[in-house]
Amino acid sequence: MRPEILFPLFSPISTLKGVGPRIAPLLQKLAGPIVRDVLFLKPHSVVRRTQAQIAQALDGEVMTFQVTVESFQRPRGGQQPWRMRVFDDTGFMTLVFFGSFGGQLEQRHPVNSRRIISGKVEDQGYGWQMVHPDYMVAPDKAAEVPELEPVYPATAGLPARTVRRFVVEALARAPELPEWQDPAWLAREGFPSWREAMGRLHEPSSEADLSPQALHIKRLAYDELLAQQLAMAQRKAERRRLPAPTIAASGLAEAIRADLPFAFTGAQDRALADIRADFASGERMSRLIQGDVGSGKTVVAMCAMADVAGAGAQTAFMAPTEILARQHYETIAAPLAAHGVEAMLLTGRDKGAARREKLAGLESGKVEIVVGTHALFQDDVVFHRLQLAVIDEQHRFGVAERQRLLAKGEAVHVMAMSATPIPRTLELTLYGDLDVSRIDEKPPGRTPVVTRASPMARLPEVEARLREATAAGAQAFWICPLVSESELTDLAAAETRAAELKARLGASVGLVHGKMPPAAKDAVMAEFAEGRLSVLVATTVVEVGVNVPNATIMIIEQAERFGLAQLHQLRGRVGRGRRESSCVLLYDPPLSEIAQKRLDILRRTDDGFQIAETDLELRGGGDPLGLRQSGLPAYVFADPFAHRDLIAAAGDDARLIVARDPELTSERGKALQILQELFDWKAGLALKDAG
Ligand code: ADP
Ligand code: MG
Repeated sequence: MRPEILFPLFSPISTLKGVGPRIAPLLQKLAGPIVRDVLFLKPHSVVRRTQAQIAQALDGEVMTFQVTVESFQRPRGGQQPWRMRVFDDTGFMTLVFFGSFGGQLEQRHPVNSRRIISGKVEDQGYGWQMVHPDYMVAPDKAAEVPELEPVYPATAGLPARTVRRFVVEALARAPELPEWQDPAWLAREGFPSWREAMGRLHEPSSEADLSPQALHIKRLAYDELLAQQLAMAQRKAERRRLPAPTIAASGLAEAIRADLPFAFTGAQDRALADIRADFASGERMSRLIQGDVGSGKTVVAMCAMADVAGAGAQTAFMAPTEILARQHYETIAAPLAAHGVEAMLLTGRDKGAARREKLAGLESGKVEIVVGTHALFQDDVVFHRLQLAVIDEQHRFGVAERQRLLAKGEAVHVMAMSATPIPRTLELTLYGDLDVSRIDEKPPGRTPVVTRASPMARLPEVEARLREATAAGAQAFWICPLVSESELTDLAAAETRAAELKARLGASVGLVHGKMPPAAKDAVMAEFAEGRLSVLVATTVVEVGVNVPNATIMIIEQAERFGLAQLHQLRGRVGRGRRESSCVLLYDPPLSEIAQKRLDILRRTDDGFQIAETDLELRGGGDPLGLRQSGLPAYVFADPFAHRDLIAAAGDDARLIVARDPELTSERGKALQILQELFDWKAGLALKDAG
């Protein structure tokens, strides 16, 4: 039940004065359906209306003048504006009005009347002009013309100043709310109350009041972060209460591990130990394994799956694409089979009798591990005893899809894997309701990929070197981004590049792109993986995780268009074998300073976590790493970069609250319920639902 105190903020925007059937849809598009959404609109800048005399006017500035109306000039033709001449002690100015209301102008502002006008002044060469003043009022209403005016987002048919009017009304309806923050923390940070902070947001007294570091903005950001962290901490606590059968670390897994031609890295050991602790806890596991491509996540998962098989239960290993599913299958099938654990591959391509046979093996429990794509959560896929779901690149699946898979067993443990390195500062925002293990150490013996940036003009040299390399048996990826408005144009560019390379290199060149049917895509990828193609031209579909150890060259066109994390992942396609690999980042000059720095960091390190951290810093907020797609919440007030210290504090605060007052029944708890309602962050709505 929504607390009554919030009713005014949760009433429809149509209850705001002036929001009728015409305006409502526009305002809804801009803000949202309820008054709260209008209250939460943020000014993006402030306009200072400098008071001046006409002789002090500055071209292009927004200024306020006190003037007297001198005369009117009717439009000479249909398209002509009305003009109005005004003056003060120091000079003249022409006010210009388009539209058909000119007649009213003369009535409302008769000759010789005095007016305060405010708006943008322009130097016409022969005199000053102001087109459609923002304000034009009698001197006794001077107070209506603000000196400093926050500017709100606008949309066609709904100018920013009208939006401002609605915001001011929404603010008037905002009640004082009971304090949900810890008083000691408030005092220490010097934060104002929520109501005061809202007021300050909408009545800024300087540009600095819009800064993410302004105290009232930090207060609002902290409120928002706490609401979210609290929801996540509650989810986590709830899941902990779900019992799950314990799974013991098995000799089977250890035997399989002992057979591997390498030893686990320390980070892999730690990740497996984390998983085993979860398995032993009697609680439902919800763990994310984060690590760069090639950091060895799949073999960690393999050991976990062997533990599950050792306990007589089954695992579903789900990957977003067929190529990836097949590679995972190929990595794990033989080592497992050597110890009598049967894994199988199930994709959309399995049809008819073959598919029925596979499904039968799963239902009877003969098959312990199934690796597959979306095919795994179809209705006819039935398990004997599903106990673990391993979900690779989990953000590529919807919550409903994951739920359908989990519904195929009882109390299914979830292990998600992600090759998108998330800066530590953002881990809480994205995965606050999961336990996270980071594999931040690469298997030994990898030679770093030599990386350099080259302007597009050097293309002939790059091609020449590529010709030598392919003639000597090397394989290369060539990435053409999908960036323009029209994918067809991009595709044409990729096709042209492929044809051109074929002609110049005299080598076999293949092309994959996102519009190809999966089977055709797989076929080309397979040809490349088997060494029958020297160069693979691709749009960005070269899937994360695809493993072609013989490929040693990565060339990326228009590298400046890619996100840093994406570039890092693309580069991760090479350097997987023992041989030295290289990566060329081709760019269209000139590079902005930031773009330069971004390409630079790639040359300096291949640590995905460090790259992600730098990217976040360079972007300074916004949508770092294109993370919104991977579930970064769209905050209203919080800025994941500027407020990163607050994220950590909110995470701690939330954990403490859940430990002390899980039902939120204390005085502060009740206020926190209001906070969660205010931001729509309730436990049931947490974004990252891994189970
Ligand atoms: P990820 O799933 O994180 O991309 P994989 O588990 O597929 O990584 O491992 C990538 C490659 O590295 C595989 O060929 C795997 O056999 C190998 N590998 C994994 N762990 C190690 C290790 N500790 N030492 C050497 N090679 C390893
Ligand atoms: Mg992998």
